[in-house]
Amino acid sequence: MRVVVVGAGIAGLCTAAGLTSTGADVTVVERAPEVRGGGAGLSIFANGVRALESLGLGWVIDDAVAPTPPTSGTRTPDGRWLGRFDPSSLAGMRVVRRTDLHAALLRAVDGVADIRTGSGVEDIVPGNGLVRLADGTMIGDCDLIVGADGLRSRVRAAIVADPGVRRSGYSAWRAVTSTPVMVAAAGETTGRGARFGMAPLPDGHVYWFASVSDPGDGTPGIDEVRQRFSGWHQPIGELLDATDPAAVGYLPIEELAAPLPTFVGTGGPCGCVLVGDAAHAMTPNLGQGANQAMEDAATLVAVLRRSGPGGLDDALRAYDGLRRPRTQRIARQASMIGRVGQMSAGPAVWARDLALRLTPDAVLNAQMRRLQRWQPPEV
Ligand SMILES: Cc1cc2nc3c(=O)[nH]c(=O)nc-3n(C[C@H](O)[C@H](O)[C@H](O)COP(=O)(O)OP(=O)(O)OC[C@H]3O[C@@H](n4cnc5c(N)ncnc54)[C@H](O)[C@@H]3O)c2cc1C
Repeated sequence: MRVVVVGAGIAGLCTAAGLTSTGADVTVVERAPEVRGGGAGLSIFANGVRALESLGLGWVIDDAVAPTPPTSGTRTPDGRWLGRFDPSSLAGMRVVRRTDLHAALLRAVDGVADIRTGSGVEDIVPGNGLVRLADGTMIGDCDLIVGADGLRSRVRAAIVADPGVRRSGYSAWRAVTSTPVMVAAAGETTGRGARFGMAPLPDGHVYWFASVSDPGDGTPGIDEVRQRFSGWHQPIGELLDATDPAAVGYLPIEELAAPLPTFVGTGGPCGCVLVGDAAHAMTPNLGQGANQAMEDAATLVAVLRRSGPGGLDDALRAYDGLRRPRTQRIARQASMIGRVGQMSAGPAVWARDLALRLTPDAVLNAQMRRLQRWQPPEV
């Protein structure tokens, strides 16, 4: 089977690696001049770990056994706990540097897939199994085109009426500290229209993110973060002091404007399928976007293995049935958590904090375990 994977993000590389292991002839097309992970850190939960393992990629996070801090959960800016996770609910979770993960995923496909960088896909013609790149190159005779081209996917529009992208109303800064910082407790701190999260890496450096409600007009760099989070509990100030200002990324948080009616295009000589953010770009409030991309890749590979030659359309329909309900439910939950987390009116924040304090930790833990309860389809 000849496959073109559009995009070499986490979704594209995981899918490409999995498909090459089935014997498919895979070409990965990446618009950027090189394949590189952007951003800072990434939380990979037990479901993402299982997806990587089922793709034969468990080794890409071998070095990422995070030193589990004794406590994790949600706090107020003065450091009081609103809710705590039991360490067993987060067992198996890994925190990685995105650059390390990307480099390892690239090693997994290097030499087994044809990787073309520096020219993006301009359009695709599934009816003819054709992919046209911006530099005029045509790639033909495709049996399957995988749209792994992220939030502003071009492949999406070839499958469904594209609902486009919606701004969440808040923006985030994120970075990894340049030096190790002692973190006694991890998780998120929630204030008025602002949140700060931290997760230690295995080498003691700490991945942190800060989000504030705004129309996306914040400034890159660390100065605005210092100002917005001044007076919040430690080690927030220490983390900012330990961060190189040049390493801080800033971005407005966006998501797919509406759930898609399908993730697949069938019925022609060449199938089409969306994976990762191209299919279900979600806000990062559950830390599941990339985990779901890994599940997508693992599921697609499993259903293709199961279907065998000639069963492509059935396999794609099975993929759609397995992936759409779960990813769209998680995207909805993430969106709702973001709206509540970013509340800024005093009475609403008071009511939210009270509700969180009154919610038994057992409920939070059950939700966290449910989120991670996923197994790859049996082949
Ligand atoms: C602040 C923040 C924190 C997050 N934290 C977490 C977390 O802790 N855990 C988690 O699981 N998720 C997290 N996420 C979500 C996660 O980053 C994304 O869901 C994930 O990276 C999506 O991967 P992807 O491969 O689908 O898309 P992308 O990473 O966007 O990759 C798409 C690739 O396609 C390429 N491309 C685009 N258009 C074309 C084209 N026309 N032709 C060729 N190539 C093209 C792009 O250059 C890019 O390389 C977070 C997101 C944010 C914003």
